[in-house]
Amino acid sequence: MDTTGAAPPANAIQLFNGKDLANWTTREGGAPEWTVEEDVIHVVPRAGDIVTKDSFTDCYLHIEFRCPNMPDASGQQKGNSGIFLQGLYEIQVLDSYGINIPGTGDCGAFYEQFAPLVNACRPPMTWQAYDITFRSPRFDDSGAVSEHARATIVQNGLIVQNNVQLLGPTGSASKMEVVNSGPLRLQDHKDLVCFRNIWAIPLPLEGSHTYEPG
Ligand code: MG
Repeated sequence: MDTTGAAPPANAIQLFNGKDLANWTTREGGAPEWTVEEDVIHVVPRAGDIVTKDSFTDCYLHIEFRCPNMPDASGQQKGNSGIFLQGLYEIQVLDSYGINIPGTGDCGAFYEQFAPLVNACRPPMTWQAYDITFRSPRFDDSGAVSEHARATIVQNGLIVQNNVQLLGPTGSASKMEVVNSGPLRLQDHKDLVCFRNIWAIPLPLEGSHTYEPG
C-alpha cells in the first residue's frame, strides 16, 4: 500500500509540525539552520544533520522524502541524504531511480549493509514514503548486545528490507555506541533533499499471548 501523504494515526507522535523545527536540534543540541516552507523541511547544505528531541526504542516510523533533479550527477553525489534510526543506522536516501540492480549504497539500502530487495524509487522531484518497523537492539545483563537491531522497510508500498538484522551502526556511525533508545537523525549530504510528514508510533518491547488493553 502506498502511504505517501498518509495522515498520521491518532496515537502517532508528530516529529514535524509542518511549521518549524521545534522538535529538532543540531547534533550539538543547537537550533537547526534547515528551512521549512509549506509543510516541507529543506536540507540546507553544510548546515549539518538534524536530530529529533524525542528518542525511540522499538517504533514504527513514517517519513516522506524528495530528491532534487541532478541529471549531471551520479552515484553518491546524486540527491544524497539519509535517515538514521537511533542516530546510528542509515537508511539511504538517494536518487536511484531507474537503477537496474540497486546496491548497498542506493536508496532503500541500509548503507553498506543491505541492498534493497527491489528498486522502489520514484523519479527525482517526486515524493516518496518510507514506512519502517524498527526493533531496537537487546542487551544481556552485562550490557553487551545480545540481539542486534532489526528493521523492515516499505518504500512506496514495496518491501525493500525484510526484517534484516543489522550488523551494527552503519558507515559514518560505525564507531558510535549502540544504544537502547536514540533519536532520529536526518543527514546533510550537501544535496537539496526535502522531507515532510514525519511521525512515529512507539511499540511495546514485548508481545503477549493475551490481550491486555493498555
Ligand atoms: Mg546518505
